[in-house]
Amino acid sequence: MHADVIIIGGGLIGSTLALALARHEVSSIVVDAQDLDATTLPAFDRRASAIASASARMLRALGLGELFDSEGCAIREIRVTDGVAPQFLHFDAGVDGDPLGIMLENRLLRIALLRAVRAHPLVTLVAPAKVAALQRDATTATLTLADGRVFTAPLAIAADGRRSQTREAAGIRLTGWSYPNAALVTMVAHSVPHGGVACELFYPSGPLALLPMTDTADGRPRSAIVWTVKADAAAGARKLGPKALAAELASRIDGTLGDVEIIAPQVVWPLGYHHAASYSAERLLLIGDAAHGIHPIAGQGLNMGFRDVAALAEVLVEAARTGQDLGAPAVLARYSAWRRLDNAMVGAVTDGLHRLFGLPGRLPAAVRRFGLAGVERLPPLKARFMAEARGETGQLPALLKGELV
Ligand SMILES: Cc1cc2nc3c(=O)[nH]c(=O)nc-3n(C[C@H](O)[C@H](O)[C@H](O)COP(=O)(O)OP(=O)(O)OC[C@H]3O[C@@H](n4cnc5c(N)ncnc54)[C@H](O)[C@@H]3O)c2cc1C
Repeated sequence: MHADVIIIGGGLIGSTLALALARHEVSSIVVDAQDLDATTLPAFDRRASAIASASARMLRALGLGELFDSEGCAIREIRVTDGVAPQFLHFDAGVDGDPLGIMLENRLLRIALLRAVRAHPLVTLVAPAKVAALQRDATTATLTLADGRVFTAPLAIAADGRRSQTREAAGIRLTGWSYPNAALVTMVAHSVPHGGVACELFYPSGPLALLPMTDTADGRPRSAIVWTVKADAAAGARKLGPKALAAELASRIDGTLGDVEIIAPQVVWPLGYHHAASYSAERLLLIGDAAHGIHPIAGQGLNMGFRDVAALAEVLVEAARTGQDLGAPAVLARYSAWRRLDNAMVGAVTDGLHRLFGLPGRLPAAVRRFGLAGVERLPPLKARFMAEARGETGQLPALLKGELV
Protein backbone atom coordinates (compact mmCIF):
# COMPACT_ATOMS: atom_id res chain seq x y z
CA MET A 1 0.00 0.00 0.00
CA HIS A 2 1.24 3.51 -0.83
CA ALA A 3 0.41 6.91 0.69
CA ASP A 4 1.80 10.46 0.68
CA VAL A 5 3.39 9.94 4.13
CA ILE A 6 3.89 7.16 6.69
CA ILE A 7 3.52 8.29 10.31
CA ILE A 8 5.07 6.01 12.95
CA GLY A 9 3.23 6.65 16.22
CA GLY A 10 -0.45 7.54 16.50
CA GLY A 11 -0.34 9.35 19.87
CA LEU A 12 -1.64 12.89 20.34
CA ILE A 13 0.92 14.32 17.92
CA GLY A 14 0.94 11.61 15.24
CA SER A 15 -2.86 11.49 15.02
CA THR A 16 -3.19 15.30 14.95
CA LEU A 17 -0.70 15.41 12.06
CA ALA A 18 -2.61 12.70 10.16
CA LEU A 19 -5.84 14.66 10.60
CA ALA A 20 -4.25 18.00 9.59
CA LEU A 21 -2.80 16.45 6.43
CA ALA A 22 -6.03 14.62 5.55
CA ARG A 23 -7.99 17.88 5.82
CA HIS A 24 -5.66 19.16 3.08
CA GLU A 25 -5.96 16.10 0.80
CA VAL A 26 -2.60 14.60 1.86
CA SER A 27 -2.97 10.87 2.64
CA SER A 28 -1.18 8.99 5.42
CA ILE A 29 -0.66 5.53 6.87
CA VAL A 30 -0.41 5.73 10.67
CA VAL A 31 1.25 2.77 12.41
CA ASP A 32 1.16 2.43 16.20
CA ALA A 33 2.56 -0.30 18.43
CA GLN A 34 -0.39 -0.13 20.83
CA ASP A 35 -4.09 -0.88 20.69
CA LEU A 36 -5.18 2.77 20.40
CA ASP A 37 -8.57 2.11 22.05
CA ALA A 38 -6.67 1.01 25.16
CA THR A 39 -4.90 4.41 25.20
CA THR A 40 -8.27 6.13 25.72
CA LEU A 41 -8.96 4.33 29.04
CA PRO A 42 -8.57 6.45 32.22
CA ALA A 43 -5.86 4.13 33.57
CA PHE A 44 -3.63 4.73 30.50
CA ASP A 45 -3.21 8.48 30.85
CA ARG A 46 -4.71 10.42 33.74
CA ARG A 47 -3.04 13.65 32.72
CA ALA A 48 -4.74 16.81 31.62
CA SER A 49 -2.86 19.29 29.44
CA ALA A 50 -2.80 23.04 29.29
CA ILE A 51 -3.44 23.53 25.59
CA ALA A 52 -2.21 26.93 24.43
CA SER A 53 -4.85 29.08 22.72
CA ALA A 54 -3.04 28.83 19.38
CA SER A 55 -2.95 25.01 19.60
CA ALA A 56 -6.65 25.00 20.51
CA ARG A 57 -7.35 27.18 17.48
CA MET A 58 -5.71 24.57 15.27
CA LEU A 59 -7.65 21.70 16.85
CA ARG A 60 -10.87 23.66 16.39
CA ALA A 61 -10.00 24.27 12.72
CA LEU A 62 -9.49 20.51 12.38
CA GLY A 63 -13.06 19.89 13.63
CA LEU A 64 -12.61 19.34 17.39
CA GLY A 65 -14.39 22.54 18.46
CA GLU A 66 -17.24 20.68 20.14
CA LEU A 67 -14.78 18.94 22.48
CA PHE A 68 -13.31 22.28 23.58
CA ASP A 69 -16.79 23.78 24.06
CA SER A 70 -18.06 20.93 26.22
CA GLU A 71 -14.94 19.72 28.08
CA GLY A 72 -12.37 22.52 27.96
CA CYS A 73 -11.79 24.85 30.92
CA ALA A 74 -10.40 28.26 29.97
CA ILE A 75 -7.39 29.52 31.92
CA ARG A 76 -8.19 33.24 32.44
CA GLU A 77 -5.40 34.03 34.88
CA ILE A 78 -2.02 32.60 35.86
CA ARG A 79 -0.51 33.37 39.26
CA VAL A 80 3.13 32.52 39.86
CA THR A 81 4.50 32.62 43.40
CA ASP A 82 7.67 31.64 45.21
CA GLY A 83 6.02 29.11 47.58
CA VAL A 84 3.00 30.80 49.13
CA ALA A 85 4.85 34.15 49.39
CA PRO A 86 2.52 37.08 48.74
CA GLN A 87 4.66 38.58 45.92
CA PHE A 88 3.46 37.13 42.72
CA LEU A 89 3.56 37.46 39.01
CA HIS A 90 0.09 37.75 37.62
CA PHE A 91 -1.07 37.22 34.04
CA ASP A 92 -4.66 38.15 33.29
CA ALA A 93 -6.40 37.46 29.97
CA GLY A 94 -8.90 40.23 30.71
CA VAL A 95 -12.65 39.85 30.32
CA ASP A 96 -12.71 39.87 26.52
CA GLY A 97 -9.23 38.55 25.70
CA ASP A 98 -8.44 35.09 24.39
CA PRO A 99 -7.84 32.69 27.30
CA LEU A 100 -4.21 31.97 28.17
CA GLY A 101 -4.85 28.28 27.54
CA ILE A 102 -7.49 25.58 27.80
CA MET A 103 -7.29 22.67 30.25
CA LEU A 104 -8.45 19.39 28.77
CA GLU A 105 -8.11 15.74 29.79
CA ASN A 106 -5.63 13.97 27.48
CA ARG A 107 -7.96 10.96 27.37
CA LEU A 108 -10.83 13.00 25.91
CA LEU A 109 -8.53 14.52 23.29
CA ARG A 110 -7.32 11.02 22.35
CA ILE A 111 -10.93 9.80 21.96
CA ALA A 112 -11.89 12.75 19.72
CA LEU A 113 -8.73 12.46 17.58
CA LEU A 114 -9.11 8.72 17.15
CA ARG A 115 -12.74 9.12 16.09
CA ALA A 116 -11.85 11.86 13.56
CA VAL A 117 -8.87 9.95 12.16
CA ARG A 118 -10.88 6.72 11.80
CA ALA A 119 -13.67 8.57 10.00
CA HIS A 120 -11.35 10.13 7.42
CA PRO A 121 -10.86 8.19 4.16
CA LEU A 122 -7.35 9.64 3.65
CA VAL A 123 -5.99 8.12 6.89
CA THR A 124 -5.21 4.40 7.16
CA LEU A 125 -4.72 3.43 10.78
CA VAL A 126 -2.72 0.27 11.44
CA ALA A 127 -2.64 -0.62 15.15
CA PRO A 128 -1.54 -2.53 17.06
CA ALA A 129 1.34 -3.34 14.75
CA LYS A 130 5.03 -4.10 15.19
CA VAL A 131 7.48 -2.34 12.91
CA ALA A 132 10.09 -4.81 11.61
CA ALA A 133 12.08 -2.41 9.42
CA LEU A 134 12.07 1.06 7.91
CA GLN A 135 14.22 1.29 4.81
CA ARG A 136 14.90 4.64 3.20
CA ASP A 137 16.60 5.30 -0.10
CA ALA A 138 16.83 8.07 -2.69
CA THR A 139 13.21 7.64 -3.83
CA THR A 140 11.13 5.87 -1.18
CA ALA A 141 10.56 5.10 2.50
CA THR A 142 9.46 1.47 2.91
CA LEU A 143 7.98 0.27 6.18
CA THR A 144 7.75 -3.48 6.78
CA LEU A 145 5.67 -4.84 9.65
CA ALA A 146 6.45 -8.00 11.61
CA ASP A 147 3.37 -9.63 10.04
CA GLY A 148 4.84 -9.04 6.56
CA ARG A 149 2.69 -6.10 5.42
CA VAL A 150 4.63 -3.47 3.46
CA PHE A 151 3.84 0.27 3.15
CA THR A 152 5.59 2.85 0.99
CA ALA A 153 5.63 6.67 0.81
CA PRO A 154 8.05 9.39 -0.24
CA LEU A 155 8.42 10.41 3.44
CA ALA A 156 8.30 8.71 6.86
CA ILE A 157 7.59 10.77 10.00
CA ALA A 158 8.63 9.57 13.45
CA ALA A 159 5.99 10.50 16.04
CA ASP A 160 6.81 7.56 18.30
CA GLY A 161 7.54 9.50 21.49
CA ARG A 162 10.52 10.17 23.70
CA ARG A 163 12.03 6.67 23.34
CA SER A 164 11.60 6.78 19.53
CA GLN A 165 13.01 3.60 18.02
CA THR A 166 12.71 5.19 14.59
CA ARG A 167 15.07 7.99 15.71
CA GLU A 168 17.50 5.47 17.21
CA ALA A 169 17.48 3.22 14.13
CA ALA A 170 18.25 6.28 11.97
CA GLY A 171 21.29 6.95 14.17
CA ILE A 172 20.10 10.44 15.20
CA ARG A 173 21.84 11.40 18.43
CA LEU A 174 20.11 12.92 21.40
CA THR A 175 21.22 15.57 23.90
CA GLY A 176 19.47 14.96 27.18
CA TRP A 177 19.45 14.41 30.89
CA SER A 178 17.13 13.23 33.63
CA TYR A 179 15.99 15.66 36.30
CA PRO A 180 16.35 14.54 39.90
CA ASN A 181 12.60 15.08 40.17
CA ALA A 182 9.35 13.38 39.22
CA ALA A 183 5.90 14.80 38.55
CA LEU A 184 3.05 13.54 40.69
CA VAL A 185 -0.18 14.00 38.78
CA THR A 186 -3.65 13.78 40.29
CA MET A 187 -7.07 15.44 40.26
CA VAL A 188 -8.88 17.13 43.17
CA ALA A 189 -12.41 18.30 43.91
CA HIS A 190 -12.46 21.35 46.17
CA SER A 191 -14.79 23.66 48.07
CA VAL A 192 -13.57 27.06 46.76
CA PRO A 193 -14.17 27.68 43.00
CA HIS A 194 -10.96 28.18 41.00
CA GLY A 195 -12.40 30.99 38.88
CA GLY A 196 -10.33 29.91 35.86
CA VAL A 197 -7.10 30.75 37.72
CA ALA A 198 -4.03 28.54 37.28
CA CYS A 199 -1.52 28.76 40.14
CA GLU A 200 2.14 27.80 39.91
CA LEU A 201 3.77 27.69 43.35
CA PHE A 202 7.53 27.26 43.30
CA TYR A 203 9.15 25.19 46.04
CA PRO A 204 12.81 24.05 46.23
CA SER A 205 11.64 20.51 45.36
CA GLY A 206 10.00 21.94 42.22
CA PRO A 207 6.81 23.67 41.12
CA LEU A 208 3.33 22.73 42.26
CA ALA A 209 0.69 23.57 39.64
CA LEU A 210 -3.04 23.89 40.35
CA LEU A 211 -4.83 23.86 37.01
CA PRO A 212 -8.52 24.69 36.60
CA MET A 213 -10.79 22.00 35.11
CA THR A 214 -14.51 21.73 34.36
CA ASP A 215 -16.65 20.75 37.39
CA THR A 216 -17.06 17.14 38.54
CA ALA A 217 -20.21 15.23 37.46
CA ASP A 218 -21.84 16.18 40.78
CA GLY A 219 -21.08 19.88 40.28
CA ARG A 220 -18.03 20.41 42.48
CA PRO A 221 -15.08 22.59 41.38
CA ARG A 222 -12.24 20.46 40.07
CA SER A 223 -8.52 21.06 39.46
CA ALA A 224 -5.66 19.05 38.00
CA ILE A 225 -2.49 18.86 40.10
CA VAL A 226 1.03 18.55 38.70
CA TRP A 227 3.37 18.44 41.65
CA THR A 228 7.12 18.15 41.10
CA VAL A 229 8.73 16.17 43.91
CA LYS A 230 12.30 14.97 44.52
CA ALA A 231 12.85 11.68 42.72
CA ASP A 232 13.74 9.92 46.00
CA ALA A 233 10.44 11.07 47.52
CA ALA A 234 8.41 9.88 44.53
CA ALA A 235 8.11 6.26 45.68
CA GLY A 236 6.67 7.40 49.02
CA ALA A 237 4.35 9.91 47.36
CA ARG A 238 3.03 7.19 45.08
CA LYS A 239 2.02 5.10 48.11
CA LEU A 240 0.17 7.85 50.00
CA GLY A 241 -3.55 7.19 50.47
CA PRO A 242 -6.05 9.87 49.30
CA LYS A 243 -6.48 11.41 52.76
CA ALA A 244 -2.74 11.63 53.46
CA LEU A 245 -2.07 13.05 49.99
CA ALA A 246 -4.85 15.63 50.40
CA ALA A 247 -3.31 16.66 53.74
CA GLU A 248 0.19 17.00 52.19
CA LEU A 249 -1.26 19.08 49.37
CA ALA A 250 -3.34 21.28 51.66
CA SER A 251 -0.26 22.07 53.74
CA ARG A 252 1.43 23.55 50.64
CA ILE A 253 -1.37 25.54 49.05
CA ASP A 254 -2.46 27.55 52.06
CA GLY A 255 -6.23 27.19 51.59
CA THR A 256 -6.15 28.38 47.95
CA LEU A 257 -8.79 25.82 46.93
CA GLY A 258 -10.50 25.42 50.34
CA ASP A 259 -11.08 21.78 51.38
CA VAL A 260 -9.52 19.41 48.87
CA GLU A 261 -10.46 15.82 48.11
CA ILE A 262 -8.32 13.56 45.91
CA ILE A 263 -10.60 12.12 43.20
CA ALA A 264 -8.12 10.22 40.99
CA PRO A 265 -5.25 7.89 41.90
CA GLN A 266 -1.91 9.68 41.70
CA VAL A 267 0.50 8.75 38.91
CA VAL A 268 4.21 9.58 39.06
CA TRP A 269 6.12 10.52 35.87
CA PRO A 270 9.91 10.65 35.62
CA LEU A 271 11.12 13.99 34.21
CA GLY A 272 13.84 14.71 31.71
CA TYR A 273 15.03 16.93 28.90
CA HIS A 274 15.99 15.74 25.45
CA HIS A 275 16.56 17.28 22.04
CA ALA A 276 17.45 15.41 18.86
CA ALA A 277 20.71 16.53 17.22
CA SER A 278 18.83 16.67 13.91
CA TYR A 279 15.14 16.58 12.98
CA SER A 280 15.78 14.86 9.66
CA ALA A 281 17.57 12.06 7.85
CA GLU A 282 17.06 10.73 4.34
CA ARG A 283 13.24 10.63 3.77
CA LEU A 284 12.63 10.89 7.53
CA LEU A 285 11.45 13.68 9.87
CA LEU A 286 10.97 13.76 13.64
CA ILE A 287 8.08 15.50 15.40
CA GLY A 288 6.70 15.80 18.94
CA ASP A 289 8.44 13.97 21.78
CA ALA A 290 10.46 11.95 19.24
CA ALA A 291 12.29 15.23 18.54
CA HIS A 292 12.18 16.97 21.95
CA GLY A 293 11.00 16.65 25.54
CA ILE A 294 11.07 19.22 28.32
CA HIS A 295 10.25 19.73 31.99
CA PRO A 296 6.46 20.24 32.37
CA ILE A 297 7.12 23.39 34.46
CA ALA A 298 5.36 25.63 31.91
CA GLY A 299 3.04 23.02 30.35
CA GLN A 300 4.63 23.45 26.93
CA GLY A 301 5.74 19.94 25.82
CA LEU A 302 2.60 18.93 23.96
CA ASN A 303 2.19 22.46 22.60
CA MET A 304 5.67 22.30 21.07
CA GLY A 305 4.51 19.14 19.30
CA PHE A 306 1.33 20.87 18.09
CA ARG A 307 3.49 23.68 16.69
CA ASP A 308 5.59 21.03 14.89
CA VAL A 309 2.36 19.61 13.43
CA ALA A 310 1.11 23.00 12.20
CA ALA A 311 4.44 23.90 10.59
CA LEU A 312 4.98 20.47 9.03
CA ALA A 313 1.43 20.32 7.67
CA GLU A 314 1.96 23.73 6.04
CA VAL A 315 5.32 22.70 4.54
CA LEU A 316 3.95 19.40 3.17
CA VAL A 317 0.67 20.83 1.87
CA GLU A 318 2.51 23.59 0.01
CA ALA A 319 5.00 21.05 -1.40
CA ALA A 320 2.15 18.77 -2.53
CA ARG A 321 0.32 21.66 -4.19
CA THR A 322 3.40 22.67 -6.15
CA GLY A 323 4.09 19.08 -7.21
CA GLN A 324 7.31 18.69 -5.15
CA ASP A 325 8.63 15.38 -3.82
CA LEU A 326 7.45 15.36 -0.16
CA GLY A 327 10.69 13.69 0.93
CA ALA A 328 13.01 16.06 -0.96
CA PRO A 329 15.90 17.50 1.13
CA ALA A 330 14.61 21.07 0.58
CA VAL A 331 11.19 20.15 2.05
CA LEU A 332 12.81 18.47 5.07
CA ALA A 333 15.14 21.44 5.58
CA ARG A 334 12.26 23.94 5.55
CA TYR A 335 10.49 22.12 8.41
CA SER A 336 13.71 21.72 10.45
CA ALA A 337 14.64 25.38 10.05
CA TRP A 338 11.14 26.47 11.11
CA ARG A 339 10.96 24.34 14.27
CA ARG A 340 14.43 23.62 15.69
CA LEU A 341 15.29 27.05 17.05
CA ASP A 342 11.87 27.63 18.63
CA ASN A 343 11.96 24.21 20.33
CA ALA A 344 15.56 24.76 21.51
CA MET A 345 14.60 28.11 23.04
CA VAL A 346 11.52 26.81 24.87
CA GLY A 347 13.64 23.90 26.15
CA ALA A 348 16.38 26.24 27.39
CA VAL A 349 13.92 28.59 29.13
CA THR A 350 12.03 25.79 30.91
CA ASP A 351 15.32 24.17 31.97
CA GLY A 352 16.58 27.52 33.29
CA LEU A 353 13.35 28.18 35.20
CA HIS A 354 13.47 24.72 36.73
CA ARG A 355 17.06 25.28 37.90
CA LEU A 356 16.49 28.83 39.17
CA PHE A 357 13.44 27.88 41.21
CA GLY A 358 15.13 24.72 42.51
CA LEU A 359 17.98 26.61 44.21
CA PRO A 360 17.61 26.62 48.00
CA GLY A 361 18.65 29.51 50.22
CA ARG A 362 17.93 33.20 50.73
CA LEU A 363 19.95 34.67 47.89
CA PRO A 364 18.27 32.64 45.10
CA ALA A 365 14.90 33.38 46.73
CA ALA A 366 15.69 37.12 46.65
CA VAL A 367 16.77 36.88 42.99
CA ARG A 368 13.53 35.08 42.14
CA ARG A 369 11.38 37.67 43.90
CA PHE A 370 13.31 40.49 42.31
CA GLY A 371 12.89 38.81 38.92
CA LEU A 372 9.18 38.17 39.37
CA ALA A 373 8.62 41.73 40.56
CA GLY A 374 10.66 43.01 37.59
CA VAL A 375 8.56 41.11 35.06
CA GLU A 376 5.41 42.28 36.83
CA ARG A 377 6.51 45.92 36.40
CA LEU A 378 7.56 45.64 32.75
CA PRO A 379 4.44 45.50 30.55
CA PRO A 380 6.29 44.53 27.32
CA LEU A 381 8.02 41.61 29.05
CA LYS A 382 4.75 40.55 30.62
CA ALA A 383 3.00 40.72 27.26
CA ARG A 384 5.75 38.51 25.82
CA PHE A 385 5.21 35.86 28.55
CA MET A 386 1.45 35.92 27.88
CA ALA A 387 2.03 35.49 24.14
CA GLU A 388 4.27 32.49 24.95
CA ALA A 389 1.55 30.95 27.14
CA ARG A 390 -0.95 31.44 24.33
CA GLY A 391 1.54 29.97 21.84
CA GLU A 392 1.50 33.08 19.70
CA THR A 393 5.19 33.90 19.30
CA GLY A 394 7.42 33.39 16.27
CA GLN A 395 6.35 32.81 12.69
CA LEU A 396 2.87 31.30 13.10
CA PRO A 397 1.72 28.63 10.64
CA ALA A 398 -1.83 29.15 9.29
CA LEU A 399 -3.28 26.33 11.41
CA LEU A 400 -2.22 28.04 14.66
CA LYS A 401 -4.19 31.09 13.52
CA GLY A 402 -7.21 28.79 13.16
CA GLU A 403 -7.02 28.79 9.35
CA LEU A 404 -6.54 25.93 6.93
CA VAL A 405 -3.44 26.25 4.72
C1 LIG B 1 3.59 15.08 34.07
C2 LIG B 1 3.52 15.70 32.70
C3 LIG B 1 2.65 16.75 32.47
C4 LIG B 1 2.59 17.34 31.19
N1 LIG B 1 1.74 18.42 31.01
C5 LIG B 1 1.74 19.03 29.81
C6 LIG B 1 0.91 20.19 29.62
O1 LIG B 1 0.18 20.66 30.50
N2 LIG B 1 0.96 20.81 28.40
C7 LIG B 1 1.79 20.33 27.40
O2 LIG B 1 1.85 20.98 26.32
N3 LIG B 1 2.54 19.19 27.56
C8 LIG B 1 2.55 18.54 28.72
N4 LIG B 1 3.33 17.43 28.88
C9 LIG B 1 4.09 16.86 27.73
C10 LIG B 1 3.20 15.97 26.82
O3 LIG B 1 2.50 15.01 27.60
C11 LIG B 1 4.02 15.25 25.73
O4 LIG B 1 4.83 16.22 25.10
C12 LIG B 1 3.10 14.59 24.66
O5 LIG B 1 2.30 13.59 25.23
C13 LIG B 1 3.93 13.97 23.51
O6 LIG B 1 3.07 13.40 22.53
P1 LIG B 1 3.66 12.49 21.36
O7 LIG B 1 2.46 12.07 20.55
O8 LIG B 1 4.80 13.15 20.69
O9 LIG B 1 4.31 11.21 22.08
P2 LIG B 1 3.58 10.04 22.88
O10 LIG B 1 2.41 10.53 23.62
O11 LIG B 1 4.65 9.34 23.65
O12 LIG B 1 3.04 9.05 21.71
C14 LIG B 1 3.89 8.20 20.99
C15 LIG B 1 3.05 7.14 20.26
O13 LIG B 1 3.96 6.33 19.50
C16 LIG B 1 3.68 4.97 19.72
N5 LIG B 1 4.92 4.22 19.57
C17 LIG B 1 5.98 4.19 20.39
N6 LIG B 1 6.95 3.39 19.91
C18 LIG B 1 6.48 2.89 18.72
C19 LIG B 1 7.00 2.03 17.75
N7 LIG B 1 8.22 1.47 17.88
N8 LIG B 1 6.24 1.73 16.68
C20 LIG B 1 5.02 2.28 16.51
N9 LIG B 1 4.46 3.12 17.43
C21 LIG B 1 5.20 3.41 18.50
C22 LIG B 1 3.12 4.88 21.12
O14 LIG B 1 2.30 3.74 21.26
C23 LIG B 1 2.31 6.19 21.21
O15 LIG B 1 0.98 6.03 20.79
C24 LIG B 1 3.40 16.83 30.14
C25 LIG B 1 4.26 15.74 30.37
C26 LIG B 1 4.33 15.19 31.64
C27 LIG B 1 5.28 14.02 31.89
